[in-house]
Amino acid sequence: MDKLSIVIPCYNEEESIPLFFKAVEQIVIKINDLETEYWFVNDGSSDRTLHELHVLHDQYPEKVHFISFSRNFGKEAALYAGLQAANGDYVAVMDVDLQDPPEFLPKMYKLIKTDDYDCIGTRRVDRKGESKFKSFLSNQFYNIINKISQTNIISGARDYRMMTRQMVNAVLSLKEYDRFSKGIFSWVGFKTKYLEYHNVERVAGETDWSTWKLFKYAMDGIADFSQVPLSISVWLGTFSFIISIIGIIFVIIRRIVEPSSSVFGWASLVCLILLIGGLQLLCIGIVGKYIGRIYIQSKHRPIYIIKEKQ
Ligand code: UDP
Ligand code: MG
Repeated sequence: MDKLSIVIPCYNEEESIPLFFKAVEQIVIKINDLETEYWFVNDGSSDRTLHELHVLHDQYPEKVHFISFSRNFGKEAALYAGLQAANGDYVAVMDVDLQDPPEFLPKMYKLIKTDDYDCIGTRRVDRKGESKFKSFLSNQFYNIINKISQTNIISGARDYRMMTRQMVNAVLSLKEYDRFSKGIFSWVGFKTKYLEYHNVERVAGETDWSTWKLFKYAMDGIADFSQVPLSISVWLGTFSFIISIIGIIFVIIRRIVEPSSSVFGWASLVCLILLIGGLQLLCIGIVGKYIGRIYIQSKHRPIYIIKEKQ
């Protein structure tokens, strides 16, 4: 009999946990010849999430397991911890807020088992319930990252997916500290099929992702999977060098042709100095972002710290 492990990161999700378990359990129980285990990861919640997990574990000690972090390490760390703990032949990753429709699980299992896929992922085809500004930013993010990174990141792809043991091991072999799962799942390769669905709203609780947090996450994703921003300084530098040469030639010629012309244009000079200074700071900032990542990685800090595991 095959075993499916479901990994669920949870951050302040006391209300969603019982609803999630009920909804998923009644679906997976109907799949023939499949045993299911749950790995909830409490990512340093400040509400009664851990209590809810204890209650579930006491009810189903063989089936429901959990890991509880010593503080909030972020969803990516929680996913990594869950994948490390899971030992099923197949592993599914799901959000606890039921935004990832559990009805897909039987179909995913069937496809992965019979159709020679290594991964069945999901992607949202619309962004109903999300602000226009947020959707616009998301679309621009996918446009940019797919232009400047060799790793193809599918627009609207969710983390919700089912993977074979082989693919999970590949994902676990990437031990980077700054984890951008959307990129990692794609980087490891393997044959993936995406199921499409319409956006579903959260069953309870609130999303922790403000537009600003998403923006920073997108920037981190770009830095993790592309080195193109690093070459921006080269292009900007070359461009301003060429412009300055043209400027010098212009000034010399004007001096010869019209020797009496007075000095003017100090205001534009100030603007130019500010412009060049700004560009330099921008480039240093970009380089700094990459150096920061090297610095963090070189410390070899653990990706998460467990306080309790059952
Ligand atoms: N989550 C987490 N740690 C965090 C933030 C979120 O483990 O620091 C979990 C959260 O409990 C949920 C999943 O990650 O199960 C997705 O979070 P959310 O629903 O807030 O994101 P969205 O669906 O809006 O992308
Ligand atoms: Mg959600």
